[in-house]
Amino acid sequence: MPFNERVCVACRKLYCREKLIRLTIDPLSSKIVLNKPSQDKTTVNGRSAYICSSVQCVNGALKGNRLKFALAGRQAKSKTAKRNIFWPLESQLIKDILSICTEPEKTCQNTRVKEA
Ligand SMILES: [Zn+2]
Repeated sequence: MPFNERVCVACRKLYCREKLIRLTIDPLSSKIVLNKPSQDKTTVNGRSAYICSSVQCVNGALKGNRLKFALAGRQAKSKTAKRNIFWPLESQLIKDILSICTEPEKTCQNTRVKEA
């Protein structure tokens, strides 16, 4: 994978890192924090997941377990998750994420939608 590209957890497409919304687990508090692209230099370093800035992908990532899996890791055979994370996301955080979406409903048209 090219250094500056990351995969959107919802649509699985590659995007330039600067165009993606980055969510990171703060290793100190286990809280999920939003790293805005413009603040990338003061970012929290932790396990991160990326979503392209489309409302559709953000909603898709929040609705299913994709974002959670991306951040927490898939559960192993034992029922304990690898990481304890705050889930679901706080509504304020979701608002913040949606507020920086720039491409509403435009990209990610090949996303498979399972539920009707
Ligand atoms: Zn996407």
